[in-house]
Amino acid sequence: MRGLVRETELTPAHLVYPLFVEAGLSGRSPIESMPGQDRLGLDALAAEARELRALRIPAVLLFGLPPEKDEQGSGAWARDGIVQQAAAILKDAAPELVVIADVCLCEYTSHGHCGLLWPDGTVDNDATLPLLMETAVSLATAGCDIIAPSDMMDGRVAAIRAGLDQGGFSQVPVLSYAAKFASAFYGPFREAAESAPAFGDRRGYQMDPANARMALDEVLTDIDEGADMVMVKPALPYLDVLRRVRDAVDVPVAAYNVSGEYSMLMAAAERGWIDRDRAIDETLTSIRRAGADMVITYHARQWAERH
Ligand SMILES: [Zn+2]
Repeated sequence: MRGLVRETELTPAHLVYPLFVEAGLSGRSPIESMPGQDRLGLDALAAEARELRALRIPAVLLFGLPPEKDEQGSGAWARDGIVQQAAAILKDAAPELVVIADVCLCEYTSHGHCGLLWPDGTVDNDATLPLLMETAVSLATAGCDIIAPSDMMDGRVAAIRAGLDQGGFSQVPVLSYAAKFASAFYGPFREAAESAPAFGDRRGYQMDPANARMALDEVLTDIDEGADMVMVKPALPYLDVLRRVRDAVDVPVAAYNVSGEYSMLMAAAERGWIDRDRAIDETLTSIRRAGADMVITYHARQWAERH
């Protein structure tokens, strides 16, 4: 009877699983700050892709750990870049698996910021845009199905859309990290992706957690610039923002249940302070209830294995 009257549905079809791919790694290597999550070597990807499909998880979001970093972040658009290679392997092993590629420079820059820097260490927004365009085209060329810019530079969606269209990828959609807050909950990810800024922080280009109207404004701007789908990140501390976005737009909405949200729950479960499986169910359901069409979550595998 509960099933008959349930308002919110959660199935594996709603989940996106983030993957960290590390150059030079063979097999898997556990991420200490995210119990149950691994970095994967290229040789582990084909099996991973097939297992995710067997679990009916439709999509992955790819992050790369390049062999080396530089001032510009040139590993982001290298033809044989780590994500480019990973995408090709995943699509070959499981063609129907949707590969979403994160687009940003912070995993590839020696300073760990999301764009090029002025001499004073602040980010040069406009000079970064052509590099993001080039990265997006390179990822689409490698077979990525959806391009997801997370850098938060102003004007990036329009630049990436134009780059994709000119490059012959007008059918490749853009999922923009439209409302991305400057959050403490990204901590474990930065260990996982080795992308912590070497100095300063990202508050110059990520959003103030206090501002929901501004988040809506960012979302509408990105849609105006050509975003086909938009994201709210993190999820749990921003369910109200998610609901407001859902009510305001007609495009698909994604929510990113980020590393800190994951690790917090897993740490409490490890100590026996909460029931892990029930807490995961409730977390993912709440994000769907707040309006997310897709939930990007490190729990995706664990959840799908039980359902
Ligand atoms: Zn970044």
